[in-house]
Amino acid sequence: MHEDLRQCLWFDTLAEQGNARTALEQDITADVAIVGAGYTGLWTAYHLLQLQPDLSVVILEAEHVGFGASGRNGGWLMGAIEGLDSYLAPCDPHTRALALGEVHAIPERAGAVLEREGIDCDFAHGGAVYAAARYPQQRALARAHLDSLRGAGHSEQDYRWLEADELAGRVRIAGASGAIYTPHVAAIQPAKLAAGLATACERLGARIFEGSRVIASGSQGLRTSSGSVRAPVVISAVEGYGAGGWPQGMYVLPFQSGMVATQPLPAAVWEEMGFTGRPVLSDYSRLSTYMQRTADDRLVFGARGNYRFGGAPISRFDANDPAFEMRRELARTFFPVLREVSFTHAWGGTLGISRRFAPHVVYDAASGTGTAGGYTGEGVGASFLFGQTLAELILSRDSLRTRLPWVLHGPAASTLRRWEPEPLRWLGFKAAWSIYGWEEAVLSGGRAGRWHQHLASLSARLVERILTP
Ligand SMILES: Cc1cc2nc3c(=O)[nH]c(=O)nc-3n(C[C@H](O)[C@H](O)[C@H](O)COP(=O)(O)OP(=O)(O)OC[C@H]3O[C@@H](n4cnc5c(N)ncnc54)[C@H](O)[C@@H]3O)c2cc1C
Repeated sequence: MHEDLRQCLWFDTLAEQGNARTALEQDITADVAIVGAGYTGLWTAYHLLQLQPDLSVVILEAEHVGFGASGRNGGWLMGAIEGLDSYLAPCDPHTRALALGEVHAIPERAGAVLEREGIDCDFAHGGAVYAAARYPQQRALARAHLDSLRGAGHSEQDYRWLEADELAGRVRIAGASGAIYTPHVAAIQPAKLAAGLATACERLGARIFEGSRVIASGSQGLRTSSGSVRAPVVISAVEGYGAGGWPQGMYVLPFQSGMVATQPLPAAVWEEMGFTGRPVLSDYSRLSTYMQRTADDRLVFGARGNYRFGGAPISRFDANDPAFEMRRELARTFFPVLREVSFTHAWGGTLGISRRFAPHVVYDAASGTGTAGGYTGEGVGASFLFGQTLAELILSRDSLRTRLPWVLHGPAASTLRRWEPEPLRWLGFKAAWSIYGWEEAVLSGGRAGRWHQHLASLSARLVERILTP
C-alpha cells in the first residue's frame, strides 16, 4: 500500500493488505491490454473473461490496485449515472425505459456478482436518503428534483418522498423537513471491493502488474519503463488520474473530493442518528455531501472539493486543512451528537468530470482502442455497467447496453468534447465555485433577506446552466 493511503480509512482498516504484485519487466502479448486497476479497468477485465474465458487480458497499474478514486471514495454504489436525464431526454419512451432499467439494476446485479465471487466488501443494499435539511430552501429544491425525476420516467418505486416523521424512521437529522428515498443505492467498503475484484479477475486468468506506469500507448500496445504489452485492443481506464500526459486528460477534468471519518461510534450514538439498514445520506446543496455508516459503525462524511490548476492529483493530505474541518463541522450540524466524538481519518482523491458533465463509454473498433469514465463522482456503480458494456463492444457482442446513448463509437478525439485549455478552465471553476460558496453561505447563514437569497440562488443556477452544455 502507498504510504499516503494510511490516512484513508478504507486502506488503513483493510485486514489483508496482500502482497504487492510484480511490475512488468518483459515484453509480452495479450488480446486486451488495460491501463489502470480501478473499478473501470477491473470490471472490464472481469466481464471480458466472463464472456470469453480463454481471452488473454493484462492490466497495467502505475501504483497498486485501487490506488485511484476506486480505493478512496464514499462507497455509494449507485443505480444512477450523472447526467442521465440529459442523455435520455431525446430518446423515445421505449429506449428510455430500457436505459432506466439497466441503470437502476446496477446495485442488485453488482451485489449478485459480489456474492457469487465471494467478494466481501461490506455490501449493504440500504438505499439512499437525500434529505431536505440545514436550511428551509432545501425542501423546495428536493420537491422540484422529485418532479423532474418523475418527468424523466423514474417511478414511485424508484424515488419517493418521505415526510419528516417517516424520514426519522431511517435517519434522524437535525431540522430535516423531508427527503427523497431511493432503493437503488448500496453502501460498500471501496478498497475491499477493489482488492476483491482484482483477486476475482486473477482467478479468471487476468494478469495484473502493479508499479507499471504506462509511458507510451498506441493501437498496437503499451510500454512502461521496463516492459511492453503488444495487444490488438487497448483500453484506457485512468479517469481522474490521467492528467500527467495521458491523452484522456484533455477530455476528463481531474477534480478533488475529500472525506473524514469518525471513530467507531457506540450504539447509543447510532440510536440518536438512525441509519438502520445502512442507507447512505446526502442533502440538497451544492456542497454535494455524502455520508455512510460503515460496517464497523463509523460515520464517513464527504463533500465536494476543488479543481487545482493543471489538475495533477494530490497524494498527501493534511488532516488540519480547513477543508477537512469544514467537513467535520458540517457533520456535527447534521448530527449534534457528533460534538462528543473524535474524527480519526481525513483523506481525498481525484475524480473525473467530462466536459458534458455526463460519463461515456467510447470504443473505436477500427483501431481497437476504448475508454470509459467522466463519471463526475458517480463511478462506483456506473463502472460495473460501463465495464460490461466495454467488454461487449470489444467482443462485438451486440446487446441492449451497447446501444445506450452514452456509448460512443469512434476515436475519443472525435467523439468526446475537450475541456477548455488552462488558464480558462481554472478561472471558470474558480468563478463558479465562488458563486456556489456565496449561495451556500447566504442560505445556510439564515440571516440574509429574501432578495439576497434569491439573487444568490439565481446566480448559482445561471452558472450551472453555463457550465453544463
Ligand atoms: C473522494 C471521492 C469520493 C467519491 N465517492 C463516490 C461515491 O460515493 N460513489 C460513486 O459512485 N463515486 C464516487 N467517487 C467517484 C468514483 O470513485 C470514481 O468514479 C471511480 O472509482 C472511477 O474508477 P476508475 O477505475 O475509472 O478510475 P480510478 O479508480 O481513479 O483508477 C484509475 C487508475 O489508473 C491508474 N493510472 C493512471 N495513469 C496511469 C498510467 N499512465 N499507467 C498505469 N496506470 C495509470 C491510477 O493509478 C489509478 O489506479 C468518488 C471519488 C472520490 C475521489
